[in-house]
Amino acid sequence: MTDCLFCKIVAKEIPATIVYENDSTLAFRDINPQAPTHVLVVPREHHANARALAEADGGLADEVLKTAHTVAELDGVADSGYRVVFNTGPDAGQTVFHVHAHVLGGRSLTWPPG
Ligand code: AMP
Ligand code: ZN
Repeated sequence: MTDCLFCKIVAKEIPATIVYENDSTLAFRDINPQAPTHVLVVPREHHANARALAEADGGLADEVLKTAHTVAELDGVADSGYRVVFNTGPDAGQTVFHVHAHVLGGRSLTWPPG
């Protein structure tokens, strides 16, 4: 998608602090972090939201979740705990329409989220 911010990050046309990448996914730090660890995991392939990712072939949703856990390991929060969030649609406040998992950790997280 030519006009998609996260496609541009995947293509390295826009800089990001990349923490991990593999054949199918890319993980980079959120520009406005809400916790000491706040990393976004995206599939390289453009899918608009969690629904589209769930419908994608080839186990892509698995890959995104596996990368989320890898990021937690790399940031040292896998044992202390972390949260994986997909904001999908207006009520969830999704603002970037290339599906991304937020990986949050490094502090005690409140529940329920606002
Ligand atoms: P959402 O509200 O779930 O769509 O989240 C979009 C997230 O993308 C927000 O947490 C933003 O801070 C983050 N974001 C927006 N632009 C960038 C960027 N250029 N690099 C990294 N994160 C970004
Ligand atoms: Zn995209």
